[in-house]
Amino acid sequence: MNFSDSEIVASLMQDEGYEVCDESSEADIVFLNTCSIRDHAEQRVRKRLRELRSVKKKNPFVKIGVLGCMAERLKQQLLEEEEAVDMIVGPDAYRDQPALLEQAGAGEKAVNVILSTKETYADIAPLRLDKNGVTAFISIMRGCENFCSYCVVPFTRGKERSRDPQTIVNEARELFAKGYREVTLLGQNVNSYSGEEDSREVPFFELLGRVADVDPRLRVRFATSHPKDISDELLQTIGNTKNICNAIHLPVQSGSNHMLKRMNRKYTREWYLGRIAAMRKYIPDCAVSTDIIAGFCGETGEDHQDTLSIMKEVGYDYAFMFKYSERPGTIAMKKYEDDVPEELKSARLKEIIELQQELSHRSNKSDIGKSFEVLVEGPSRKSDKELMGRNSQNKVVVFPKENYAKGDYVQVRITDCTPATLIGKAV
Ligand code: SAH
Ligand code: SF4
Repeated sequence: MNFSDSEIVASLMQDEGYEVCDESSEADIVFLNTCSIRDHAEQRVRKRLRELRSVKKKNPFVKIGVLGCMAERLKQQLLEEEEAVDMIVGPDAYRDQPALLEQAGAGEKAVNVILSTKETYADIAPLRLDKNGVTAFISIMRGCENFCSYCVVPFTRGKERSRDPQTIVNEARELFAKGYREVTLLGQNVNSYSGEEDSREVPFFELLGRVADVDPRLRVRFATSHPKDISDELLQTIGNTKNICNAIHLPVQSGSNHMLKRMNRKYTREWYLGRIAAMRKYIPDCAVSTDIIAGFCGETGEDHQDTLSIMKEVGYDYAFMFKYSERPGTIAMKKYEDDVPEELKSARLKEIIELQQELSHRSNKSDIGKSFEVLVEGPSRKSDKELMGRNSQNKVVVFPKENYAKGDYVQVRITDCTPATLIGKAV
């Protein structure tokens, strides 16, 4: 989501006559696009801001702006705490950037952190900052109103609002015409997307179908789905449409009903497993990935075991795993004590990561001997004699280059694997 926001900011700045450069030492303006989701993310930004002080010493004219969630969360306070910062720009204030820059140019500190109920940046053509030219992100909605008790996003990103469907379809069409072959539709909770057209509601599954209709050679992915509203219609649309990828990211967070209730996730373990069963029914070869939080407030050994057991029961192909990090202003901070000791959080996270490695490896091993259509994204990290791409299930596949190139669809037979990568040969 942040990457997609950076592309909007880059586009707005280009309209003002600026260009993107690779090194902060060459820049006239440095923007840090920030995330507040865990304390660790904020600490990294603080470190970068300290490093940028030396850039400013060398070039006193350089201006530094903080964008996104941390700007929204800390507002003016960030100016007081970080001397290098000139501009604070909240996630709905990017259009105001030229004015803020002018203010900063005149030597003043500039702040706009007003959240909007309407801003979607729908009319801005993002300046693509990706390097491969094959896969791109399309932001389809902004904000979140789910208020999971641990989460800062509803406070930093504001109310949920959806972009008009036609602007999304047009963006996908333009990307395809430029040679892109895969788009990922992005939002905090894409299945609650609700577009409007001719006074009629366009739900997410319809939008997904329309983007897939742009061209059968355009792959479509999406993230993230909230388990509470992953509907049968959506699963059927994915199952029935060849170029909508068979991979769903469905964050479970915990396998314990007690934790899920405290987290305000609005589903139970049984409901979640029911949705997984529906997914397997409609999309038999679907990969499933998840997010997990270890050591949330009041988590017992038994709750932790419930998380390990749901991981095994679902057999996740991939997971993002985190230690709970208390965030200021959240419901959990106000209501519950952050009472799982740090060492225990780490030990539980370690167990979760080790189990996931085993599950990922098992899932990859079961692909040996199968053939997949792979969309080539570029050379592999290790050798330019090899290419890397992904299959529909979003698994990374590496294979000898031969005469294939970026953007090609290649049928690859899998001969070997690691826990993170499938290795094969074009057939
Ligand atoms: N909107 C998405 C993802 C939001 S943030 C969703 O609901 O699934 C990505 C992940 O960060 C979350 O799924 C959660 O696992 C994790 N996360 C959010 N707040 C956190 C916190 N306070 N501590 C640790 N992990 C957190
Ligand atoms: Fe945060 Fe929950 Fe919204 Fe995801 S759905 S962004 S975890 S509040």
